Amino acid sequence: MLHNQLKDLRGQIDTLNLQILELLNQRARIASEIGKVQSQLGTSFYDPQREAQMLQDLEAANQGPFSNETIKALFREVFRASMALEEKEARAKILVQRGSPNDKTIISLPDGSQIGNGDFTIISGPCAVESYEQMDETAAALAERGVRILRGMAYKPRTSPYDFQGLGEPGLKMARQVANKYNMLITSEIMDKSQIQMMSDYTDIFWVGARNMQNSFLLKALGQVRQPVILKRGLAATLEEFLYAAEYIVSSGNPNVILVERGIRTFEKWTRNTLDISGVAILKLETHLPVVVDISHSAGRRDIAIPLARAAKAVGADGLMVEVHPNPPVAMSDAKQQLSIPQFNELMDGLS
Ligand code: PEP
Ligand code: MN
Repeated sequence: MLHNQLKDLRGQIDTLNLQILELLNQRARIASEIGKVQSQLGTSFYDPQREAQMLQDLEAANQGPFSNETIKALFREVFRASMALEEKEARAKILVQRGSPNDKTIISLPDGSQIGNGDFTIISGPCAVESYEQMDETAAALAERGVRILRGMAYKPRTSPYDFQGLGEPGLKMARQVANKYNMLITSEIMDKSQIQMMSDYTDIFWVGARNMQNSFLLKALGQVRQPVILKRGLAATLEEFLYAAEYIVSSGNPNVILVERGIRTFEKWTRNTLDISGVAILKLETHLPVVVDISHSAGRRDIAIPLARAAKAVGADGLMVEVHPNPPVAMSDAKQQLSIPQFNELMDGLS
């Protein structure tokens, strides 16, 4: 008798379980629709007011035997699961994600040249602008070898506040004058979004350094400029974090982002950083954005510039970045890694 009753009650529970299961999934499907609408509206998945209201309504409707606290705890769990689902769906569709093998961002530059079109682009110049003469001598040599993008770095994010911090706006002016003389484009590192307007007068391509890769306010602001943005991988950033940083710029309205692998911090001491060459291959699979390899900051030494440049080309990078200085031993920054002009010419010969 009791056994039959138990069987019957368990049967009722099994039926209810299936009904709850169906209702939970029905709810999840609707939550996911809401997520899509929110994505289009650009609003956040998490709406604490809406969540509090739903809990209040449930509390008011609850007739027991579960206590209000238990009901709220159960529903909070349901809310969390729905939000995780919405986030997962949103993540699977980030804008910088490569959709198909032919999906690639080709960036048109103001001089009519392109980056990301299958050519191997060289971005070069000294670590920092030091003088007009230094820029002129470097740019002349680079232009001779067909380089179109010149580093015009006037703000240097140095480890020590007592080291050379860059020439600031006067340095930008020098870089611009020299670039105009040789028909080159200027790329220059921006430190803060307050500099956007001033730097726009001198800069063709904004540059976000490794130390600012996760400065989301700067990234969002650069999503609103018309110039392309070079984004360097953070010192210890995973590839996922790197792509999310790019997503900040792209989702804010600027699709023209160039990624730069610049080496990551590891235990190795014979290089300044470890060039993550497999990371470049993965980026080429995972994103449609162009990827450039910085062979200077990744190595911190000039004697392996040629093999690293060859590796960058072989792995499918869209170009390389190399620091060149007319007299590297006396450079105000990164003296150990900058190439002299003859060394740069050797590198270019070694690439062709
Ligand atoms: C640079 O390329 O000028 C530079 C400072 O490098 P990073 O931001 O990668 O350290
Ligand atoms: Mn440097």
